[in-house]
Amino acid sequence: MFLKKLKIDGFKSFAKPVTIDFQSPITALVGPNGSGKSNIVDAIRWALGEQSAKTLRGGKMADVIFAGSDDCKPLKKASVTLYFDNADQTLASEAREIKISRQVTEDGQSDYLLNGSLCRLKDIEELMMDTGMGKDSYSIVGQGKIDSILNSKPEKLRELFEEAAGISKYKMRKDEAEKRLDKTKQDLQRVKDLIWELD
Ligand code: ATP
Repeated sequence: MFLKKLKIDGFKSFAKPVTIDFQSPITALVGPNGSGKSNIVDAIRWALGEQSAKTLRGGKMADVIFAGSDDCKPLKKASVTLYFDNADQTLASEAREIKISRQVTEDGQSDYLLNGSLCRLKDIEELMMDTGMGKDSYSIVGQGKIDSILNSKPEKLRELFEEAAGISKYKMRKDEAEKRLDKTKQDLQRVKDLIWELD
């Protein structure tokens, strides 16, 4: 699996639609300070579901929408689409190409699309889980990330190894199953109480 293309429209400094093709295994983004290199990484992180405006270096989520410049009016929405080559089926889908999009309007409302159809953030998180490519994952190494890994608590480090080992998905499913089991036990107890009251 690899990220082969990125489309950015109205996100941060990208007022006009821009498409970036990542054709070779290594791509270097070069440009003067403030030209938008980090905004490209922010766009990838954001499309994968980043919820923290602070991580995206903004105050609130709608701040990712192009805010205007001397020659361009501010925009009312932003969108980013990631195109993954899935020929090796790393992502749990038979499709050879997976398209993930996120769009936001000025009220801060976000929508996610998977291959063009509206979906939940959870669907995208589940798809990306254990691939190393999730929004919090190790494939995006931002400034300070190495320090934060080195200084992180054992539980946090364990999460990182679990993601790399490919077991996060199963852990999440186990947690969900345990929650459902607890809820069912409580319902069962409630039914028993009601039967006892009726007797
Ligand atoms: P450096 O090399 O200094 O790290 P960079 O190339 O990584 O710079 P970025 O941090 O990606 O640059 O881009 C910063 C630019 O993006 C700033 O000029 C900032 O004004 C602009 N910018 C950020 N958010 C928005 C927004 N919502 N609307 C318009 N421009 C924005």
